[in-house]
Amino acid sequence: MQACEAFRKQVSVPCTACRYCCDGCPMKIDIPAYLDVYNTYKTDGSWALNRMDSIESEGKPADCIGCGACAGHCPQSIRIPEIMSELAELSK
Ligand code: SF4
Ligand code: SF4
Repeated sequence: MQACEAFRKQVSVPCTACRYCCDGCPMKIDIPAYLDVYNTYKTDGSWALNRMDSIESEGKPADCIGCGACAGHCPQSIRIPEIMSELAELSK
């Protein structure tokens, strides 16, 4: 159990869904919703990526322009633009 939790912490991003990152996103991407999918993908596998289709978000990871406006507001210092780019690649 402990090893499993350690693995989960290692591969996941520590998003608390505070949404501080969302207001400044010019592409209106629901960042925490996609990070939740990302975490499930990292721990449980690629089936989790199917959940991206059901997220009600105006912007998608593929719309991210890498401006970094989100990352500056994240108290967890999550590398959001990188992850959006990774999710965009994975969803091709
Ligand atoms: S880097 Fe991407 S996710 Fe972050 S604010 Fe800019 S467009 Fe939105
Ligand atoms: S600011 Fe950081 S911790 Fe808060 S919702 Fe956005 S990505 Fe998650």
